[in-house]
Order: sequence, then structure tokens, then C-alpha cells
Amino acid sequence: MLITHDAECALSILVELLNTAPEACGSEQLPDVAALGSFVVRQEISEVGSLTPADLAAVHALRTQLRDIFSAESTPQAAELVNSVVAAAGTTPRLTNHDQHGWHIHYFAPHAALGDHLAAELGMSLAFIVMAGERERLRRCDAPDCARVFVDLSRNRSRRYCDSRTCGNRLHVAAYRARQRSAEAVVEAVVKAVGAVPAG
Ligand SMILES: [Zn+2]
Ligand SMILES: [Zn+2]
Repeated sequence: MLITHDAECALSILVELLNTAPEACGSEQLPDVAALGSFVVRQEISEVGSLTPADLAAVHALRTQLRDIFSAESTPQAAELVNSVVAAAGTTPRLTNHDQHGWHIHYFAPHAALGDHLAAELGMSLAFIVMAGERERLRRCDAPDCARVFVDLSRNRSRRYCDSRTCGNRLHVAAYRARQRSAEAVVEAVVKAVGAVPAG
């Protein structure tokens, strides 16, 4: 898949943002402006000014729109949703090489509010996925009690869980214990059967 490093970074921010929603993890992870501020720092989102409750509301609304694109039922529907998110963001693509990152494109307009900034960048990252015909890489975690999302960038599109350190690992452990339990049950049954055989 033709996906640049920048697009990959944007997709990772997209996933982190979607997974802050109560639908994904049970409780709101961006409950106030301070939480939004630390999200911006954690994700190393550049050129963000001081944040207000209006920014928080805009990001919450955008998050819902992006989740709808993520789980769109068809490609035309996804394309239409991407177009409306990106159009509303007032994008102005420009080349930049800030902070020794090498030349890359910023889609957000200079001094854009955070909601518009994210709508432009994350909307475009989804545009590239749709354009590459790779929507099936936009996945929801397979763990039964998990509604987190992820983007499967593995070569053979084999990734099933949101985060190998939590869900994937947890399920591996569960499968291992189940195998162990059934092995123990077999041993127990054999011991019983052997015990039941009359000696001699
Ligand atoms: Zn940049
Ligand atoms: Zn999960």
C-alpha cells in the first residue's frame, strides 16, 4: 500500500482520537480542555494555540464524524463523508520541513483551530486509505469486550486486536489457559481411567 510516513502518523492520531470516545472504552477520555491539551502534547500535534471549551466541543463532534467514516458501510459513503469533513476544515496544503521532520505536507490552514486542524489532517489520511482501496484495514478490535478501533498496517492484513499489549496479549493468555485446562482435564480423565482399571 502506498502510505507515507506522514499519513501513518496521522492515522495513528486518528486511532488514538477515536479510542478516547466513551463508545470505544466505556468512559470519556477527553472530558475537559486540560485532557484535550495533554492529548495534543502526547500526540505531538504541531502549531496548536491555547485551547478553549469551543475547541473541545469541535473535537468531540469531529470524533463522531471520523468514527462514522471509519465504520462506513460502503466506499461511496466513506468518500462522501471524507469530502464533507475535509471541505469544512478549509484546508490549504503546503510543504513544510519544520522541526527537522523532512519535507512533508500540512493540510490544515495556518492558525486553524484544533478541530479544523484535525479535520484536515485526519480527514486526508482517511482520503488516502479510500483512494488506495484499503478501507478493510480500518478495523474494530476482535476482542469480544472491546470496541476500540485500529488501522491494520500489517503486510498481510492479519491484525485482529487493537493493541497487542492489551487485547491481543489478553486473548493469547486466555487461549493458553483454555488449552492448559483441557490438557489437565485429559490427564485427569486418563488418571481416573487408569485408576479404574482393576490391577492384575
Ligand atoms: Zn508537520
Ligand atoms: Zn481491543
